[in-house]
Amino acid sequence: MKTIGLIGGMSWESTVPYYRIINETVRARLGGLHSAKCVLWSFDFDEIETLQHRGEWEAATQRMIDAAQAVECAGADFLVICTNTMHNMADAVQNAVKIPLLHIADATAKRIKAAGLARVGLLATRFTMEEGFYRGRLIERHGLDVLIPDEPGRAAVHAVIYDELCRGNVNAASRARFGEIIGQLVEAGAGGIILGCTEIGLLVAPEDSPVPLFDTALIHAEAAAGFALA
Ligand code: GLU
Repeated sequence: MKTIGLIGGMSWESTVPYYRIINETVRARLGGLHSAKCVLWSFDFDEIETLQHRGEWEAATQRMIDAAQAVECAGADFLVICTNTMHNMADAVQNAVKIPLLHIADATAKRIKAAGLARVGLLATRFTMEEGFYRGRLIERHGLDVLIPDEPGRAAVHAVIYDELCRGNVNAASRARFGEIIGQLVEAGAGGIILGCTEIGLLVAPEDSPVPLFDTALIHAEAAAGFALA
């Protein structure tokens, strides 16, 4: 079994499910007392969030590279960045280490295509919805058509992520608002919805959506366990 190098704490609310899903997947595959071999780097998310919202992406990239190298030195065989947003610097991180990085958008696209879908909606932080690093990869590398909410919808999703979910607050009014936004994306032709922020699965469940949900935390954690066992 390979050792998984997790870069988490962004926020820790979603790193907990990663750790649980990875271990559950290994136990389901190997049985008995088997569990995953992991090295975890967990950030103080306040530091990362401050750099993101100040637009200090170079400093954020350096933090990510330092974490990746520390995890590599600690014996990880491959890297898993436990957030969509911080895949912004995935290429820089990959270039700074010798071990491979398992990209969250690639794992998600594989699942979407296996479900036979080509047009999906994306719910995520503003960075992930509006900048090219994530949608661009889904469109150019994987041939998907990716819809995002309108401006008020994007503002609402971004605010719920940072002001509620990353602080451990799961609230029914926000679930209802997400339901409305999902409804608009479905009306615009989305056949599935990417929960493109690793905390959204804490708020929204399959029964809150008329179309399949693609929870990136779940998909990425299962892919990590699969790759460790391959
Ligand atoms: N975990 C979130 C994501 O998947 C947002 C937190 C962050 O900015 O890293 O994008």
